[in-house]
Amino acid sequence: MASKTKVQYVCTECGFESAKWYGKCPGCSAWNTMEEEVRSTATAAKRVNAAVSSSVIAKPVGLHEIDSTEE
Ligand SMILES: [Zn+2]
Repeated sequence: MASKTKVQYVCTECGFESAKWYGKCPGCSAWNTMEEEVRSTATAAKRVNAAVSSSVIAKPVGLHEIDSTEE
């Protein structure tokens, strides 16, 4: 379960990404610029949003179809 969450370290100076934390960035040689970034939670939130918006769009279409058949 814990392995689902991927932690990346990203340099705030040059954007260098690594699975390992560095005191000195290998990309730009700056010190203490690597910040922890959790990835998989953002992807999961996007999937939930897509599912919610599609169900919201589907509702008014269904109501409109019922109205036109009644007339
Ligand atoms: Zn850097």
